[in-house]
Order: sequence, then structure tokens, then C-alpha cells
Amino acid sequence: MLGLMMDMPLTLTMIMRHGERSHAQQEIVSVTADSPRHRYTYAECFRRARQLANVLRSLGASADARIGTLGWNDYRHMELYYAISCSGRVCHTINPRLFDAQIEYIVNHAEDEFLFVDVSFVSKLEAIALNCPGVRGYVVMTDAAHMPATTLPNVHCYETLLASAADTYEWPDLEESTAGGLCYTSGTTGNPKGVLYNHRSAVMMAYAAALPDAANLSAMDGILPIVPMFHVNAWGLPFAGVLVGAKMVFPGPRLSAPDILADLITEEGVTISAGVPTVCLPLLDYAAQTGRSLAPLARFIIGGSACPLSMIEAFRDRHGVKVLHAWGMTEMSPLGTVNADNPKSAALTDSARSEQLLSQGRPLPGVELKITDDDNRDLPWDGQTVGALKVRGLWVCRDYYRLDGAGDAHQADGWFVTGDICSIDPSGFVRITDRAKDVIKSGGEWISSIDLENAAMGHPDVAEAAVIGVPHPKWQERPLLVVVKKAGASIEGKAIIQWLGERVAKWWLPDDVVFVDELPHTATGKLSKLELRKRLADYQLPDVAG
Ligand code: AMP
Repeated sequence: MLGLMMDMPLTLTMIMRHGERSHAQQEIVSVTADSPRHRYTYAECFRRARQLANVLRSLGASADARIGTLGWNDYRHMELYYAISCSGRVCHTINPRLFDAQIEYIVNHAEDEFLFVDVSFVSKLEAIALNCPGVRGYVVMTDAAHMPATTLPNVHCYETLLASAADTYEWPDLEESTAGGLCYTSGTTGNPKGVLYNHRSAVMMAYAAALPDAANLSAMDGILPIVPMFHVNAWGLPFAGVLVGAKMVFPGPRLSAPDILADLITEEGVTISAGVPTVCLPLLDYAAQTGRSLAPLARFIIGGSACPLSMIEAFRDRHGVKVLHAWGMTEMSPLGTVNADNPKSAALTDSARSEQLLSQGRPLPGVELKITDDDNRDLPWDGQTVGALKVRGLWVCRDYYRLDGAGDAHQADGWFVTGDICSIDPSGFVRITDRAKDVIKSGGEWISSIDLENAAMGHPDVAEAAVIGVPHPKWQERPLLVVVKKAGASIEGKAIIQWLGERVAKWWLPDDVVFVDELPHTATGKLSKLELRKRLADYQLPDVAG
């Protein structure tokens, strides 16, 4: 027997309508290349989204066109998110930090019809436009006064187009399975792979992200997404924020300027922010150096790579900010797990509490996890056994977009192989120990590079640390610690090993410590171990070199 409830599709249009009607006067504040502090309301944002939908129509974009964006976090990008997706098209956010050849590949692979580009990335596109013959036109996201001279063909000015567009538009009734967004993974090997989100997955993730044991969002919040809108839709916050009617605060091109971030936090009433650990370090350092308070900031979602304990403690002890350590992937829209307490974890003290804070947390309802061994047999959730992490759920991708050639991450039994290695405890708390390809195999046992990095990062003189496995004739592989010292520090390798000796098993201790001025990062701000291994390809451990 079927139920008799209304069959209303889960669409971003529904979220947009709700925001426009019920939170019309809520503010959206942005830093942009052409304005240090632009502010307007939800009502204005969605009025302009209707104008933008008319612009897309008059430009001649097809009904299901992929429309690319190369933009910072700001109100125009937000308008594009809604106008493109809710008009039935696909908002293809492109990471401008990728290499030209990768951008060229994904623009052509996605068959983007139009590209909306921030002033800062115009020259990047000029370099590749000739190789993207399918792109029918470019729109620079600025006003006439700030329009740069450019060689881009068929180029328009965003504000000029909007000024002449009507603000009435009948949003189409979309099926919830309609594609609404496209984001390519910044895969470190091979070509980037496209993840095609649909309205339903975006809506379901927005609901889950807003839950108390996730980001705990409400209309009383000010949300500052530092995680870029070109990286998995800024972790869905532009959708979850509108769902609850929160104030949105966007840092635009100034996302790595800690003084601007601190200004936005204190002056705009930001209560929650989100980003990868590498963006948090400068903010914490700046606050420490200047003695600035980060009030009213209360929560910080940190994910994308493992958040060191030292960072979680610095936020908690110096600023009263609760770090919500989260794990996810582009393929998971991206939220998989968030570390929020249950009564048992909240009661832990001392080192058990610290260990618990390092966990990536429990799965959000709507995401299922399992760990398996090499023969695909399920492993126990005992907090000790480590295995390959597999997921399935309401916002997990079922296949890559037009993937030519094999993609073995999606298994026939419906599970997605994340490529991460972890343990899960009986309450469902996940502890990621490594990417499968980064795990260090020493004498048949596994050493967690993430745990070692975490312990090293706790040393007061260490700014950043990476651990990679290097070949060893007897042990197969041994860990090598690569360290960036804090400015002015004069620490030696021996002292760091001694520090680690008090924190990890003896056989885990790195065989050597190498100091470097900086570590390589990927386009999404994660440590690039692939590049680090390349740089250290000729390195030999002291006892191997003799
Ligand atoms: P991406 O799709 O580029 O966002 O990368 C996803 C990958 O980032 C995951 O498969 C993990 O390897 C890594 N990752 C994300 N969040 C965390 C975290 N909190 N701790 C450790 N690794 C993480």
C-alpha cells in the first residue's frame, strides 16, 4: 500500500523559495574584487537569481547546459549557484588553482557552454580559451567600471547583463533527480573525475548538515565559509545556510588574509566557519600575535585533511571555539562524518579525551559506513581493527560523470570505496589513519602517517609536518618525517624524535627528520604526498645510505 502524502520533489528551488519568503530580510555580506564589503538581503539575492536565469536564457544556454564558474566565495557566485541549478542547468564549479591543462580538460569534458569568471581568473582563461572551442561565451563577474580589457571571445559583463534582464521568471518544476551541480575531484593521478550532484542529494545533505550533531545551524547563525565555493560547493553551506535562514558572510578573494577574516568574524557576527586545516593556521597565528578575539565565533568545521590536536586545542582553549572535525569527499557532497559528542565521549578525560577529539566523528544519518579487509570481508567496529573504508548513502555518488575507462571505486554491491583506511569504534566514531596509498608498511605492520604528523604538529616549534614511507631493505618501508619549522625556531631532528618518543610506539618513530622551507599542497590545500615523494625520490635513510 502506498502512503497518501504529497509527492513534492526535493529541489534546491524549494530551499530558495523558503529562503526568499521566510528569511527575506536576512543578510548576505561579501568581500569582492570590486567592493570591500558588499551587503544585501536574501530577497535581493533571489530577485537577481531570477534576472540571471533570464540572462542564461537570452544568452541561448541549452535547457540542461553545463555552466562553468571560476569564482571566489561571494554573492554573485551564490546567485549563480541558484540561478543555474534552479533553471534546470548544471552549475559546474571549477577550481581555478588547478593547472591550465586540467582546467582545459574539465571544461571540455563537461562541455561547458558558458563560463562565468571572476576578474582575478580572466588571464587564466585567456591562456586556454583557444583550446576550449565548445565554450560559447564568457561572463566576467563584475560591473562595467571594473571590467578588465580581455582577449576572451564573446565576453560580457555580469552587471551589465543583469541590469537589462527582467526580474520575473517562472522557475521550472524539476524532478529531484535532475542534475544541479558538477565538481571534479582534484585527483592526484590521472584526469580529474566529475561528480554530478542532483537536487535531491544537495537538499538531503543540507538538511543533514544543519542537524545539531553536525553544524547545528539556525537563523541566529552567521556562516563564514572559508572553504571555497569551487571545492564541493563550499561543503554545501550555501544551501544549508539558506535552508535555515542564516546570515551568509563571504570572504571573496581575501580568504587567505587572516586580518580580513577576523574583521568579518567580529564585525559581521560570524558564529560558525569552515575550512581545511591549512587556512586555520594563519588565522590562529594572527589572533595570537595581535591578541585579537575571535568572538562571537563558536564553531569551526575543519576537514579535508586530518585536523591536528594542537589546532583543536588552540581554538578551544584560546577562543572558546568548538572544532567540529569532519571527514568527507567530493564524491560525498562532501559530508560523511562529524565529530560531535555522545554522553560517553563527553565524559572522557585527559588523554582519552584528546584521542577522542582526533576522531573524524560519527556518520551523518543518511550515510552508511563499513570497513573491510583485502578480501572484502567486513571488519569489526572495535576501535582497533583497521580496514578499507566504504560508504553508501543519500548524497554519495553512484558513478563518475562520463568516465571513460575503468573506475573501480564503485563496487557492484553498491558500496563506494573511499580509498581511506580507518578504524571505527563501537559507537561509530571513525579514526582515519591514512589514504590507502599513503600508508607506511613496516615489517608487515602499518604505521599511520596521519598519527605521526599529528604528534609532530603538537611540538611548539613545528609549523607543518608530513610523513612518508621510504624504501628500506629490511623493513620494506620506514617513516621519514619532513618538517617546516615555525619562524625563528631552531629545533633539531633529534629533539623532535624525542618528543615523538613520548607519544607514539617506539617502532613507529621516524628513521630521520628532514627540514624544508615549505611543503607541497594540492589545489584544495591538502598536503601533496605524491609531489613530496617525487621531491624526495633520491633520498636514502641514513642506515641505508651507510
Ligand atoms: P576531496 O574529495 O578532494 O575533498 O578529498 C577527500 C579526501 O580527503 C578523503 O578521502 C580523505 O583522504 C581526505 N580527508 C577529508 N577529510 C579528512 C579528515 N578530517 N581527516 C583525514 N583525511 C580527510
